[in-house]
Amino acid sequence: MTSLDDISVTQLKGVGSALAEKLAKLGIHSIQDLLFHLPYRYEDRTRVVPMGSLRIGDIAVVEGEVMKADLVMGRRRSLQVTLRDDSGFLVMRFFHFNAAQKNQLTEGARVRCFGEVRPGRAGYEFYHPEYQVSPPPMAAAGEATLTPVYPLTEGIQQPRVRGLCQQALGYLARFPIKDWLPPSLLSDYQLPGITDAVKLVHSPPADAAVHLLMEGRHPAQQRLVMEELLAHQLSLLQVREQIQARAALPLLPTGDLPEQFLEQLPFSLTGAQKQVMKEIRQDLSQPVPMLRLVQGDVGSGKTVVAALAALQAIGSGAQVALMAPTEILAEQHFRNFQGWLAPLGIELAWLSGKVKGKARQEALAAVASGQAQVAIGTHALFQDEVQFHRLALVIVDEQHRFGVHQRLALREKGVGGQLAPHQLIMTATPIPRTLAMSAYADLDTSVIDELPPGRKPIETVVLPDSRRDDIVERVRTACRQGRQAYWVCTLIEESEALQCQAAEVTAQELAERLPDLKIGLVHGRLKAVDKASVMERFKSGELDLLVATTVIEVGVDVPNASLIIIENPERLGLAQLHQLRGRVGRGEQASFCVLMYHPPLSNNGKARLQALRDSQDGFFIAEKDLEIRGPGEVLGTRQTGLMQFRLADFERDKGWIEPVKGMAPALMQQPAVVSALIRRWLGENIRYGEV
Ligand code: ADP
Ligand code: MG
Repeated sequence: MTSLDDISVTQLKGVGSALAEKLAKLGIHSIQDLLFHLPYRYEDRTRVVPMGSLRIGDIAVVEGEVMKADLVMGRRRSLQVTLRDDSGFLVMRFFHFNAAQKNQLTEGARVRCFGEVRPGRAGYEFYHPEYQVSPPPMAAAGEATLTPVYPLTEGIQQPRVRGLCQQALGYLARFPIKDWLPPSLLSDYQLPGITDAVKLVHSPPADAAVHLLMEGRHPAQQRLVMEELLAHQLSLLQVREQIQARAALPLLPTGDLPEQFLEQLPFSLTGAQKQVMKEIRQDLSQPVPMLRLVQGDVGSGKTVVAALAALQAIGSGAQVALMAPTEILAEQHFRNFQGWLAPLGIELAWLSGKVKGKARQEALAAVASGQAQVAIGTHALFQDEVQFHRLALVIVDEQHRFGVHQRLALREKGVGGQLAPHQLIMTATPIPRTLAMSAYADLDTSVIDELPPGRKPIETVVLPDSRRDDIVERVRTACRQGRQAYWVCTLIEESEALQCQAAEVTAQELAERLPDLKIGLVHGRLKAVDKASVMERFKSGELDLLVATTVIEVGVDVPNASLIIIENPERLGLAQLHQLRGRVGRGEQASFCVLMYHPPLSNNGKARLQALRDSQDGFFIAEKDLEIRGPGEVLGTRQTGLMQFRLADFERDKGWIEPVKGMAPALMQQPAVVSALIRRWLGENIRYGEV
């Protein structure tokens, strides 16, 4: 039977090849695609709002009489039309207008207009509103409907899309949309069938609950939201299936490497570290690739866990790759692992994009022959020229900068290209539970929910930059007492060059003001060797103060550093600030973090910095960050594609995450349903599913 998926949009009246091409840019090819091009909000044009009740940002219909219409010269010439009703007044402003308009909008004319309230020089204003002079009576309360608003692309206007969707709805009587969800599930949640839901959201009937529709909480919308979240969940589970369709080398170590390693550590593992190790050990012993995410707050000791996992692979005669997102972090891991593993007779190779010439050839040869049991580096590790001898475990630090595509690609790197390596993913940033359940549905999760004993809380203060002199003194005092400090310069992230420049200027200024201190500087534009040598000098205590950009955000571990100054913290996300702050509080002594902001601070900015001052719980801070900035920002750019929903809103709809996670496994047994739902909701965005 023909389905709406097989009927091209060109069947619709008015859709020629030019329009079809534009629609294709929106991912719309078939009538079904069009019907799943859903309104992301509605305009309420059903009732006239009293002007006196408007607030900035309201989108509303008002109706009144023209009090006066003036040509205003100012910086840009405009036509300023003041309307009034019984409750107040409002200005319509036009920067482009013709004589006919001007002649129509004269004193005493009756006007109905629709627009968004903005603060203007004459009070509240609508810029270029849609308007009608001498409007017909409004539809009676029982007859009016909401106006859907659709996502657009260049060259297609709102009314055009509305018209096409209305035409497409006409097909539903003959070709209902296939409902892939079991009826029992719909009745459990009291949700409508798919065809009814689609019809309703495109063309809400007059008696539909307006406030629910406006908020996206109408059952018809929620039915679609749920299906969309489910489709995303299924697509990740499909990735997991594709990876686990390959076998893996079960890692069953002989010898006592882990015991030797633990003996040489100056501390014993926390209960949480032991628990997580148990989970990892179990996974690694299976002939199926492990896909595990380890989360833990800053300083919870993820690196040791990574090392123990590595030893399980090495003890089984296999190789390990450890990848970090930045040079500094990779370098630090290399040093840590070198210090821990070399005494056990294990060989390591270092590979970053900046390792060139003979050193590179040697590293590549050591990895290819299996002489190096561990390879550590940046993503350069996974270029084609890097051939492993017997790779069985890939550890990725700081997952949030890494996407699901790469996870899938790693599958190809295993032993002989046949066996897939186990994957252990570590994130520095705690991820709110709901977000982890949806964005990392392809991974099993372990949480290190305990800090090593003896950590002192970090005291955080929020100060304006007018206190800079005091803060500089504070650095002097701390360093005189033998402590070390970080001074972090931030700028808008887009401009790395400017950020580095700012750090250079600050380093110079501080050097002049603190002549008795030894000051180092690191930023993203330094050569890798220079960066490494500055870090090393700071680590060994030779430098007192490290001026840095946000490159030191993750992983850097210098326990003697107990003071961190962060300039312009209002520019950064909470999770990032929490990470930066986590550079201190790693040693014996009490630690301090100074958030030095540039006034004035917005209310939102104030609330954010206070949240950070008042809490040191990374999971709590991550929840706040998610509320304030949304999932795309919290996860970092690579993952955002995944979290771009048509209809679902992560905050509003997080109540679905748990049920959806529960529904998914049963549906996975029906591959036809899985691919139909993924195709319906993710369409062309799902290329990685086919790699
Ligand atoms: P993160 O989870 O932020 O990556 P790290 O692995 O860098 O944390 O560990 C932070 C610091 O805590 C390191 O100096 C590490 O040696 C130390 N550490 C790790 N585990 C323990 C433990 N069980 N007891 C004491 N110190 C520990
Ligand atoms: Mg770390």
